[in-house]
Amino acid sequence: MDQSSITDRWLKVLEQMAAAARRAGRAPDSARLLAVSKLHPAHDIRALFEAGQPMFGENYVQEALGKMAVLPREISWHLIGHLQTNKVKSVVGRFALIHGVDSLKLARSLHCQAEAMDLTQDVLVQVNLAAEKQKSGIFEADLPPLAEFLAGSSFLRWRGLMLMPPFFDDPDRARPYFARLRELADTLRTGFGLALPELSMGMTGDFEAAIEEGATLVRIGTRIFGERGSN
Ligand SMILES: *Cc1c(COP(=O)(O)O)cnc(C)c1O
Repeated sequence: MDQSSITDRWLKVLEQMAAAARRAGRAPDSARLLAVSKLHPAHDIRALFEAGQPMFGENYVQEALGKMAVLPREISWHLIGHLQTNKVKSVVGRFALIHGVDSLKLARSLHCQAEAMDLTQDVLVQVNLAAEKQKSGIFEADLPPLAEFLAGSSFLRWRGLMLMPPFFDDPDRARPYFARLRELADTLRTGFGLALPELSMGMTGDFEAAIEEGATLVRIGTRIFGERGSN
């Protein structure tokens, strides 16, 4: 897609996000856009950054590091894909926010790497609310020890929760999952006395429903950049 149509689509998404927030009685800027640029070329990211989009989400560590090397340092990068423990060394300190923390083992490994580098890494916990076996995300039942660990880590700053609900054609069917994530965050806030300000939920097909249910970060790729090819 040419870059002016990417920018037009991006502006449209921002308008739709603000409208969804207003419908829910929220401030129009209370949900922020993470532009998901995986499998899209660096020049499209640069054009959108120059138009005013500050945050980009990537799934694959090598691809993301390659883009970081050639794009402006001011871009804020988020890692949204499944993270394997053997990639931890390459990601800590490079991403403003890691969305996919979903096991105690991964959290420990991130903590150790952040400690070794003497920095604080922001993270979200990805929750698999529907307990879908083939998908990433921690099951709710397994959350307490991970939550305890993150609450006590001085090198990881736990910022909230991330969700990939089951796929539905009708976004209204994802709503109960969005609402449940928000309730879970409320419970954890009270239980641990943490701020947990971020709810990362909503994608191309369902971001308006997600904002109506409380999303603070929506992760949108296709709606902005068009269909993804292979890289
Ligand atoms: C690819 C991806 C997105 C963006 O999906 P679109 O449907 O293209 O908006 C959002 N979140 C995660 C975790 C992804 O992997």
